[in-house]
Amino acid sequence: MISIIIPVYNESELIDEMITRLDAVLVVLKEDYEMVFVDDGSEDDTVYKILQRREQNANVKVLSLSRNFGHQAAITAGMEYAKGDYIGLIDSDLQDPPELFEQMYDLLNMGNYDVVSGFRTDRQEKEGKRFLIQSFHRLFSQASGLHDIEQTGHFSMMNRQALMALLSMKEKNRYLPGLRSFMGFRQTQVEYTRQDRLSGESKMSIRQLFRLAGDALFSFSKLPLRFCLYLGLLGIVVSLIAGVYVLVSKVLGWAPLGWSSTTISIYFLGSIQLTFLGVLGEYVFRIYKESQNRPLYFIRKTYD
Ligand code: UDP
Ligand code: MG
Repeated sequence: MISIIIPVYNESELIDEMITRLDAVLVVLKEDYEMVFVDDGSEDDTVYKILQRREQNANVKVLSLSRNFGHQAAITAGMEYAKGDYIGLIDSDLQDPPELFEQMYDLLNMGNYDVVSGFRTDRQEKEGKRFLIQSFHRLFSQASGLHDIEQTGHFSMMNRQALMALLSMKEKNRYLPGLRSFMGFRQTQVEYTRQDRLSGESKMSIRQLFRLAGDALFSFSKLPLRFCLYLGLLGIVVSLIAGVYVLVSKVLGWAPLGWSSTTISIYFLGSIQLTFLGVLGEYVFRIYKESQNRPLYFIRKTYD
């Protein structure tokens, strides 16, 4: 059986086309399949539209979360629910072509691979956003040492064994592409061009995107701590040079050097300390979140 997981948040405009295209692909691949739509607390008529399609096609299933928990939690909910032997992940905005599942499925089915992810050879998104995303990917792959994920995202398919491995990682601050790369197994990629979303605005706010980038960097790299360390070392070097200058000018009788040098060094060291406290605070907060161990999501209702 094939399960495809599709997180949806206020996607009522696109849902019909999504289902039609996805269904056309799946029908050919396997008679036994399910499309698991995870409704991440949509406020529009997304669920209603999906349920309408469900009337003709019982393979369409809906998992309604109790509120908006975010993209990562929604996908996780779908993965925990899916019953298939092969599990595909795709966004509902048709930026990634569902037709590619055919190729992914073939690769998995031949038995040589456990995970196949979509590799973006090009992106058609808006200039500014594309620049931000690409900068993040470059920084992330450098900082985390996970090099195979620079051009991959959530769009992927895996077998059950890989899914169980992915789900066994219970951390709360999740960045799924990172976890997928981390877990190993036999992975491969298929190439495609990532389109701009077919209609409507992005449902991930810039804030959510930055938070996701933060989750990725904090949980897969030492970059923030490194940054502190380097800035601290730089501070020491600068203070040493300044110290020498102060001493020399004292000896040569250029003094009084008073107020300005003192205040500048206080400001400088103070701001470095505050930055470091902020970074440490971020780690403490993350440890706190993990130890609270709250569920990632709650399911309000399932249509199955
Ligand atoms: N999404 C979600 N919960 C959210 C935000 C988005 O389930 O809080 C879904 C959304 O419906 C879409 C996918 O996650 O299917 C990716 O969102 P979007 O396309 O808006 O993100 P982008 O591609 O702009 O990063
Ligand atoms: Mg999108």
